[in-house]
Amino acid sequence: MADSTSLHPCEALAARIGADKVLLPGSTGYDASLSSYFSPQAAAVRPTCFVTPQTATDVSDVVKLLTSSDNGGPYDFAVRAGGHTWFANANSAPGGITIDLRGLNSVDLSADKSSVSIGAGATWDAVYGKLDPLGLSVAGGRVAGVGVGGLTLGGGISYFGPREGWTCNQVTSFEVVLADGSVVEADERQNADLWWGLRGGSNNFGIVTRIILTTFEQGLLWSALTLNPVTEVDRQARIYAELMAAENYDENASFLTGWAFASQQGLSVTLNQLVYTRPVADETPAIYNPILDLPAIRNASATTVIANMSTLAQNSVALQRPQAARYMTATVTFVPTEAMIRATYDAFDASLSLLQGVAGLMWAVNLEPLPPQIYTRGGADANALGLAEQSGSLVVCLVSPSWSDTAHDEQVYEAARSLMADVEDRAKKLGVYHPYIYLDYAAPWQAVIQGYGEESVKKLQKLRKRVDPGHVFTRKVTGGFKIPDEC
Ligand SMILES: Cc1cc2nc3c(=O)[nH]c(=O)nc-3n(C[C@H](O)[C@H](O)[C@H](O)COP(=O)(O)OP(=O)(O)OC[C@H]3O[C@@H](n4cnc5c(N)ncnc54)[C@H](O)[C@@H]3O)c2cc1C
Repeated sequence: MADSTSLHPCEALAARIGADKVLLPGSTGYDASLSSYFSPQAAAVRPTCFVTPQTATDVSDVVKLLTSSDNGGPYDFAVRAGGHTWFANANSAPGGITIDLRGLNSVDLSADKSSVSIGAGATWDAVYGKLDPLGLSVAGGRVAGVGVGGLTLGGGISYFGPREGWTCNQVTSFEVVLADGSVVEADERQNADLWWGLRGGSNNFGIVTRIILTTFEQGLLWSALTLNPVTEVDRQARIYAELMAAENYDENASFLTGWAFASQQGLSVTLNQLVYTRPVADETPAIYNPILDLPAIRNASATTVIANMSTLAQNSVALQRPQAARYMTATVTFVPTEAMIRATYDAFDASLSLLQGVAGLMWAVNLEPLPPQIYTRGGADANALGLAEQSGSLVVCLVSPSWSDTAHDEQVYEAARSLMADVEDRAKKLGVYHPYIYLDYAAPWQAVIQGYGEESVKKLQKLRKRVDPGHVFTRKVTGGFKIPDEC
């Protein structure tokens, strides 16, 4: 093996783990890596090289080399799994080294079929592809291409959330490479503090190489998408608030409601994405009847699909293809009362005035349910999200616009920021605001970890002190949402 001392870090990495695993600018592999990001903004970041480990040992070698001072380091680096975070730096290091985990993509079912061991760089469609034929599933992402690593470490909202809990709560074990290059297991018995902290702690503690998730038996799911006129917003708000009430919530229902404005049509519509995880033969689940009774522009019968997760995940990709448009997300959390849902629509409608002239705009606001069941499944205090005390329903309000021209980036970011501030303000006035910010949907300006609450932040800081005393994953992995410094 070549002596790596005084080599450029990418050359030193090639010497350490093999030249075929280091992709340099100008190579086909480098370009393919860039084109595999979801958003054009993330794809525009040019790292010095991509390094593509194939095993946990490779990851350990890479971390040791990048954090050592022997070769002019330590170096800035980024960690990337499915590459679906939209903003620059979260999953790619400008002028640094991006560790692309997509080679860690194994999906292995346990002998008794009760769990599945997944490489952190695998995508959810690959997991469903293995489990669907066996009548099994996991509480994972809803869209093909999204990475297991990023989604799980941020929490994870799935169709099964109300029944099974957060994706992260379904993790029985993480394999992690720490800042000193050691490869450790984090589960209920070993490194239990790390097992807890990785459930919401994202890339703050190490590089997760393998995730073991609990499986459950699962048949086909019922799904439909309705478009309604926004003139029905009062009834929509009443129906949604009623169904979200803790005492009414049906744990098989995943009901997303919201509004979208398309500049091409110059029109706002109401969108209801209805999924039921236990279809009753091919009938419409009764819980959705009130919303299906509303006057519709496109009704459920035109869009009803009864299918497995693989099909639903592929169908969802068709709604927005990777890099088809510029993209962003930001989020806020509140209690879904009728008045607040109505107020969110008013904020959405008012925000349209900030978006004049944005070409190819699709301005979408969605409410995603966090019913009480999601907090308790897999252990209420089993994650860092700070929601253990929550007894009623919350919703995550997501703004997720797409548009066509770079020239309008700042206008759209500013409009999203202003809309989220307006929704937050209205929620505070109605007494329904919650400080939790869902990491997987957050914008870079949002203080996500602080939103987990003081107690959680203190525990995360203590954990960081133990597993990463040099703060490598805070200071050298600068992208993503960071644990604040201790006072
Ligand atoms: C089209 C689309 C559909 C989506 N659907 C859902 C959904 O159904 N449910 C939901 O909850 N969210 C969903 N999201 C949000 C999604 O969960 C986040 O974008 C998430 O970050 C994606 O994970 P990833 O691995 O693809 O992303 P990446 O951008 O690769 O990673 C996200 C962050 O996690 C860190 N990270 C990733 N892997 C590791 C690892 N192994 N070790 C340490 N750090 C790591 C990265 O450094 C980065 O900061 C969706 C997003 C999009 C764009």
